[in-house]
Amino acid sequence: MGQSFLATALVVCCTGIPCFGQYKSPDQKVSTIVSAISTDYITNILKTLEAFGTRNILSSQEDPHRGVGAARRWIYAQFSSFSPRLEVSYDPYRVKKIEARNSRVPRDVDLYNIIAVLPGKLHPEQRILITAHYDTLVLAGPTGASLANGETAPSADPDTDSPGVTDDGSGVACVLELARVMSQYEFDKTLVFITFAGEEEGLLGSTLYSAKAQRENHKIEAVLNNDIIGFTVSGNGRISDHRVNLFSDDPSDSPSRTLARYAREIGERYVPSMQVDLEFRADRFGRGGDHTPFALEGFGALRFSSPEEDYSHEHTSTDTFEHTSPPYIARVTQLNAAIAASLAWAPTAPVVTEEVERNGQKTNQLLLTRGESRYDAHLSWKHENPEPDLAGYAVVMRRTTSPYWEREVFVGQKTEYTLPDVQIDEWVFGVKAVDKDGNESLATPYVPPARVKRVVEVY
Ligand SMILES: [Zn+2]
Repeated sequence: MGQSFLATALVVCCTGIPCFGQYKSPDQKVSTIVSAISTDYITNILKTLEAFGTRNILSSQEDPHRGVGAARRWIYAQFSSFSPRLEVSYDPYRVKKIEARNSRVPRDVDLYNIIAVLPGKLHPEQRILITAHYDTLVLAGPTGASLANGETAPSADPDTDSPGVTDDGSGVACVLELARVMSQYEFDKTLVFITFAGEEEGLLGSTLYSAKAQRENHKIEAVLNNDIIGFTVSGNGRISDHRVNLFSDDPSDSPSRTLARYAREIGERYVPSMQVDLEFRADRFGRGGDHTPFALEGFGALRFSSPEEDYSHEHTSTDTFEHTSPPYIARVTQLNAAIAASLAWAPTAPVVTEEVERNGQKTNQLLLTRGESRYDAHLSWKHENPEPDLAGYAVVMRRTTSPYWEREVFVGQKTEYTLPDVQIDEWVFGVKAVDKDGNESLATPYVPPARVKRVVEVY
């Protein structure tokens, strides 16, 4: 019954827009990618990564079978084998020794992020990143997060067995599997698959890469970071094998939070067996991940992570294949596939501000007013070079206290819309662009400008 209501509603709404019957239903191309994710392939990656013994950044660079160098060359070769259209490269850095008690970088070290780029056809400048870290760490002494006094816990000898199958072989398997499957397709936007190094020593590889991306004015729409996506049973026996946590930093309409809302809706549409739980905080308590340097640079960045961690295996020599769940990793990989493919085929997001001159100064004015009546919600937006397959725009809204978009109106190819008698102070509004296959852009939120602290002079 729900379905027939929906079908009727769509027919009424789509008068004159033949494609709109597909809005909110899965795009066949995206579904095909999601169903191509292979648990067997993921299993092979995990076992190969485990067999390198350790991937600590201070382990051997030269040994052909053991250590971080052998692992790096194998990941590079994997990326290179998928498609001639994937542009594979090392992103190398010479990191200086870090002087500190228990320093995990006690000497100068060379780091190599490994990057595979699948250039977009229509908007090659727009990038979507799917990331994980391939380095591993075993701690000396008690495991877990930081020491109680806030100091870094010391690393064991770098040649100690450090298989890192869940942390973060699981994320690397996700990134490699997505590169394998997605490189068989052409997308409108550019997909960038990255495995970082030096995460365990303080997010070194991702910090250096994200700063460079900012300096070079990269347009990064999304960073999907996967770190510890293999545990389904926590150390105290709690089980979650069809649920994943998705961390995004405040404020409530930050680029990361906007992306998180998108990821939940699209992920659950294509992988209905999975529950995507948004966590409205940057990361787990006292813990870090490679999405954070991107968020600090102003990009929308998320962390997928298992809700059930087993601290008895993390950062120890028992983070092995037998303690991870390839089917669960495959489901989280499917979520990434749906989100990245939808976004990479979707139009770019509309812009909801306009540059105006005020008192000789250029400022961005929000395109939201109370309309001529002064009691309506009047929204307008800009969309440069709209895609040839654009179906139109959808206005979304939610109460200021609500976590998710609650209402949605498809308005066709207009670039303004009035919601009569709607009190704008009580709602958050957004607008997104939708293509003829039903692929949705991120919703651009109408965010009021930040308040500025005033100084009042007195005499
Ligand atoms: Zn990790």
